[in-house]
Amino acid sequence: MDDCIFCKIIKGIIPSYKIYEDKEYLAFLDISQFTRGHTLVIPKKHVNYIWNVKNIAEYMKLVQNIGKHYRNKGYIYVDMMVFGRDVPHVHVHLIPHNGNQTDYNNALKGIGELQSDINRRPNKENGDKIVNELKYEN
Ligand code: ZN
Repeated sequence: MDDCIFCKIIKGIIPSYKIYEDKEYLAFLDISQFTRGHTLVIPKKHVNYIWNVKNIAEYMKLVQNIGKHYRNKGYIYVDMMVFGRDVPHVHVHLIPHNGNQTDYNNALKGIGELQSDINRRPNKENGDKIVNELKYEN
C-alpha cells in the first residue's frame, strides 16, 4: 500500500534497524523502544488485521524464534503484544526485558493500573452476560 509506513520500510523508502529479514517477513526496531530491543515483526504482504494473515502459523513460528533468540541473548522475559491502530499493517511487538526495568514499568504503567482495578473484574452482574455474548464453541 502506497501510504503505509510499514510498506515504505519494507521497500527501503524509510530506513529501519533490521533484526531479521527474509522473503516473507521483516523484524525491525520499533521507533518507540518501550525497552531496549523493542521489535516489530511484520509480514511483507500488506494485511490490515492479524486475523486475516493467511499463514499465521508460519508467522507466529518466526515470532517465537525471534523471542527465543532474545531469551538466549540473556533477557528473562520477551513480552509479545498485538495492539495499536496507528499503522494498519499487521505487527507483533516483541518487548525484551528483565522484569524490573524502569523503562518497561513506565511503558506499562497504564496497563498495571487497569489490572489492579478490582472494579474492572468480571463479577456476578456482568460475568455471565459477557460469557453469553462471547462464548466460543468449536
Ligand atoms: Zn503496509
